[in-house]
Amino acid sequence: MQIGSLTVEVLSEGKFEVFHDGHINRFGEDEGEPSDASAATGAGRQSTIVGINPILVTYGDRKILLDTGLGWGLDAGSSYTGVSNVNTNLAIFGLAPEDITHVVLSHLHYDHAAGCSFTDSASKTRATFPNATYYLHKEEWNFALSRTVQESHARGTGYQLDEFYRLMADARVQLVSGKTTELIEGITLLHSGGHTPGHQAVYMQSGEEYACYPGELIPSSLHLNHYSTHQQDSNPVQAKKAKVRLLKKAYREQAVLLFYHSQHGQSGRLIKDDDKQYVLADIARE
Ligand SMILES: [Zn+2]
Repeated sequence: MQIGSLTVEVLSEGKFEVFHDGHINRFGEDEGEPSDASAATGAGRQSTIVGINPILVTYGDRKILLDTGLGWGLDAGSSYTGVSNVNTNLAIFGLAPEDITHVVLSHLHYDHAAGCSFTDSASKTRATFPNATYYLHKEEWNFALSRTVQESHARGTGYQLDEFYRLMADARVQLVSGKTTELIEGITLLHSGGHTPGHQAVYMQSGEEYACYPGELIPSSLHLNHYSTHQQDSNPVQAKKAKVRLLKKAYREQAVLLFYHSQHGQSGRLIKDDDKQYVLADIARE
């Protein structure tokens, strides 16, 4: 879709089942089909069905990725074959990993950041996007370092920093600080905290058009009107405040919201229904 001069695409790695202990399977594989109820609501007791949808923003020769997905199948000799990942997604648009200039990470949970790097056939860890600078909030890095000791066993939605150390060591990462950071003209990183202390959203403006990538603050349209049920938020009060602020701004400016975890790459502008609840005015499937 076009947001003024920005071209915005919702990519997709597919649908996944996230279990309570944080591990992730491709939807419908290995653990058997989930119950119809959990599949329908995306909020089952045992597991949740989510999409994983990194965002690609193109502005002239700037090619910007917002989160990088799980990156399954990127490693040399990976047992994941025939899977979608950020590279197969980019190929659809005629882009190679080398073309990416900026990577913004909302936070460092595995399902958002693992696609940042891969291991090559010599078992060396390398940046998936060799020419990109990776942008991460400083508070996220500090928090991840403090958590990774406790969560090092978790393969799913927790922190898995082994490969990210390589990017840090190679000076590929730019740690940003403060409340707002201008990435390039018209694209601003907004430090929100809430989900994790260093979580950041991305707000885009071109001319009189706007788009908003709320990251895990609003992972899908199912989360527009629910404030207190996100058990994974490290600071639920801060998450709620940031979400209310972002939704007000997005509603006022008629920004297109881009959802990372919607099952079908959903995006859309906000209206309010008769009960003053936010709903999407238009639903675009990518
Ligand atoms: Zn997530």
